[in-house]
Amino acid sequence: CGIVGYIGNRQASPILVEGLQKLEYRGYDSAGVALYNDGEINIFKTVGKLFELEALTDKEDPKGSIGIGHTRWATHGKPSTPNSHPHTSANGKFAVVHNGIIENYMELREELKAKGYEFESETDTEVIPHLIQEYYDGNLEETVRKVVGKLEGAYALVILSTEEPDKLITVREDSPLIIGIGQEEYFIASDIPAILKHTDKVFILDDGEMGVITCDGVDLSTVSGERIEKEVFEVDWDP
Ligand code: GLU
Repeated sequence: CGIVGYIGNRQASPILVEGLQKLEYRGYDSAGVALYNDGEINIFKTVGKLFELEALTDKEDPKGSIGIGHTRWATHGKPSTPNSHPHTSANGKFAVVHNGIIENYMELREELKAKGYEFESETDTEVIPHLIQEYYDGNLEETVRKVVGKLEGAYALVILSTEEPDKLITVREDSPLIIGIGQEEYFIASDIPAILKHTDKVFILDDGEMGVITCDGVDLSTVSGERIEKEVFEVDWDP
């Protein structure tokens, strides 16, 4: 139901949890974050209120200045720790947060199962990290284009990987997504309140658009691969 992402030079975990708290008003049943640090993706998930995720991440104090976070409103699979996001690929190299519903997930799940993938959740979302693993050929951006080409339904996605740990990839179809522009740091969110503390400058993605975000900048394109330029939108609300 809510999505956040951070890439920059600061510790990502408190920024992600605080961003999720700003999206609490939308409702949720569970929450989680994934942080990249030193060759690994570390995941923290809790069922119930966000202060529990905050307590967990405060205690563990995970390192990493790139990460993704999610508050879930369950559509496929009950609220539970395995069903909460982020979801990871079987090899642990790709982590994904998703808002929306993948309509053809059953069919994709059967195809992946036939190839030997084992599922840890009952969600529609989990097909996505496994598909990324299946198609990954050394270019995450192109892999994500291929994978979203197989998805039917509504999605806002943010993807983190150990293979290309200097970037976040985000893409949307029928589900809101914005990229907040800071000083050598960027924020991704499903809604403006999550990032307003940090910046009032945003790119608002439209359907079929994706962003590849590093500490150096944002590359915007369509899922079919054409580069696009977008106006920076200035939010004029009080934080
Ligand atoms: N359909 C996904 C799930 O049930 C995402 C739900 C959401 O947008 O929070 O896990």
